[in-house]
Amino acid sequence: MSDTNVRLVRFCTRCVQSNQRVSPSEVTKDSRTNVRHTLEIDDGVCDACKVVAKKDSIDWAAREAALVELLDRFRDPSKPYDVLIPGSGGKDSVYQAHILKTKYGMRPLTITWAPHMYTDVGWENFQAWITNGGFDNLLVTPDGSVHRKLTRLAYENLLHPFQPFVFGQRHQAARLAKRFGISLVFYGEHHAEYGAPKGEDESSVVLPKYLTGEVTPDTRISGVTVSELEKQGISQRDLDIYMPMSEADYTASGIETHFLGYFLRWDPQEIFYYAQKHTAFRPNDRRTEGTYSKYNSIDDKLDGFHYWCAFLKFGVGRCTHEASQEVRHGHIDRDEALALVDLYDGELPERYLPEVLEYMGLEREEFLRIADSFRAPHLWEKRADGWWLMHRAAGVPKRFDFLK
Ligand SMILES: [Zn+2]
Repeated sequence: MSDTNVRLVRFCTRCVQSNQRVSPSEVTKDSRTNVRHTLEIDDGVCDACKVVAKKDSIDWAAREAALVELLDRFRDPSKPYDVLIPGSGGKDSVYQAHILKTKYGMRPLTITWAPHMYTDVGWENFQAWITNGGFDNLLVTPDGSVHRKLTRLAYENLLHPFQPFVFGQRHQAARLAKRFGISLVFYGEHHAEYGAPKGEDESSVVLPKYLTGEVTPDTRISGVTVSELEKQGISQRDLDIYMPMSEADYTASGIETHFLGYFLRWDPQEIFYYAQKHTAFRPNDRRTEGTYSKYNSIDDKLDGFHYWCAFLKFGVGRCTHEASQEVRHGHIDRDEALALVDLYDGELPERYLPEVLEYMGLEREEFLRIADSFRAPHLWEKRADGWWLMHRAAGVPKRFDFLK
């Protein structure tokens, strides 16, 4: 994506998402790199809205029959597990593991890449998932000293404190599937629900390019190359747990990774109801900062900062993301979404800020100054009274200044 395109800010006229949403990305102070995909908005409507709208015309009975056919191909009572399900014990992974086991008779191994810092509700849901759910689980927790350093570097270099977490989470499934001789991996929601390259919603397969990679001394994590990190005391062996399997190894292992959301109609609110009804999953007792919901991504004390950082870089925050999803699924209309975004988008997650600062070894003011330095110049204007977001779905600029 060229910078010229980035500066043409457009909002979907059906939901409230903007074309600034990119995935994944490495935003340095003056450029965006590693952008695989930008949310496209043609004729005023974004690709994510188009994908969700198509759901009404999908033959879901045929999709379910295809699911059973796929599962039958991998069902193998001679092995300990038929399928690997990566997840946190949040509503999505709870649903996936439960339905694959109880309705479709699969034997799952669940794996969890640990949050930076569990919230109470996150830990309780994780425990409830495993102790009451009837699944074996592997909880993979990276070395805290390495993880803190990488998280801080990712914050300073990319304003993306979650990047090391994402690396580890994305790459564990294939690595552990291979180790345990499991050839089928299931993700939940199809990534096309948020806008993926055109046509990817037509297949259940998670393409190897999203799961694999080559690791060289120039591979970057937290905005730093592996060889530079070595000089800073983080060795290649320290980093191994974050790194991908090569595409050749993945293919040779015969592993297939699929989105369950391709086969079964996926509605985040319905998934929540299912998780609550069939398992001990419970929502938070309070609204998540930066949005209005109580049950999405609530297990890590850093979750809120992931969205808040994205708000500074892309001008759209957690509420934009969630409200857009609910508009697409018909739970709220666009005017309600705009009102919610106006109220909550960009709210600084104060609740866990002291712990997050301690985790990264940063003072509050330093933390906020780093964040300010990443405000995209085509989205933000610095005025005498602070920073103003100039492009909003509601059309009116609004001040968001956290240092004052
Ligand atoms: Zn849209």
